[in-house]
Amino acid sequence: MESIYGKKEIELEQFLEKMHFPKFYAKEIFSWLYQKKISSIQEATNLSKTLRESLMQEFSFETLEILEKQKEKEVSKYLFRLSDKEHIEAVLMRHDYGLSLCISSQVGCNMGCSFCESGRRKKVRNLQAFEMVLQVLQIEKECRMRISHVVIMGIGEPFDNYEEVMRFIEIINHEKGLAIGARHITVSTCGIVPKIYEFMDFPYQVNLAVSLHAPNDTLRKKLMPVAKAYPLALLMEALKKYVEKTNRRLTFEYILLEGVNDSEKEALELVNLLKGINCYVNLIPYNETTHLQYKRSKPLTIAKFYDILKKNNICVTIRREFGGRISAACGQLRSEKEEL
Ligand code: SAH
Repeated sequence: MESIYGKKEIELEQFLEKMHFPKFYAKEIFSWLYQKKISSIQEATNLSKTLRESLMQEFSFETLEILEKQKEKEVSKYLFRLSDKEHIEAVLMRHDYGLSLCISSQVGCNMGCSFCESGRRKKVRNLQAFEMVLQVLQIEKECRMRISHVVIMGIGEPFDNYEEVMRFIEIINHEKGLAIGARHITVSTCGIVPKIYEFMDFPYQVNLAVSLHAPNDTLRKKLMPVAKAYPLALLMEALKKYVEKTNRRLTFEYILLEGVNDSEKEALELVNLLKGINCYVNLIPYNETTHLQYKRSKPLTIAKFYDILKKNNICVTIRREFGGRISAACGQLRSEKEEL
């Protein structure tokens, strides 16, 4: 049986019509599921008993189990168990502008970035849209607050699970549902070029972040195998078209790894690469993990790198740090749990 939490409004309408119910009930169903957050469709008292029964026969209403929660002042990390006993994680961050949730899009990841904990375990499977929707819904229920921002930056490569991620975005954006504004949703990719072209035509004003981490192909290939398939020339060409077509500002993520990609030379190369593109760069202090040998750049190196970008008129920020102590970064909690 398919999950109700993976259905778009139009699909619920089609089901209602097929069963000879008025299709405006689709909006009602969205509102019961996501705004009133009912735990059983029986609580949807303004729907007739026959409609409730038809829905129960057609769809699964099962949710996701929160297995573990770790909390620090401004960040909580959630570990979920899926119905096939796999684990995924999501991280909730309290910003001054609201609550932002970082969700996972796959179990494991095939991109194989050498610095990343998540990629140590190969992809087991894609998450379905309902499993992404339920990360948001279950955490809203648990913390009893509204999540205003969603970033698809947890475990997995969202553009390697394109259809389900786009479906997820449509569902959480729905005004009668979780109503998360498209401009408050960010998809982060390691740079799968054909999907960037597809994404230009996605009719929602969602933000795009690109994990760059190196300003030239030689270095990028060492860090990110995806660069072998899609070198920087192809990636940048696609991104320039994206900005042209959507008129949206891009975000580039750049993790600073000591002695690897954090020198003055790389900063200047990065300036050259990004000159003239409507973008900003998010410098990320690396979260060290016990399994991987990379080190975080020294504060002074980070400051120098930042200054070079700034002086050359590249918009740049240094990412605020969240959750270093509670293994909140990038696949660490799941990895501890499964003792990889
Ligand atoms: N696959 C997508 C989204 C998931 S990774 C992507 O590559 O963008 C989300 C971000 O976290 C990426 O920029 C990734 O490079 C970064 N990241 C991975 N491991 C990290 C670590 N240990 N410390 C800091 N950032 C990390």
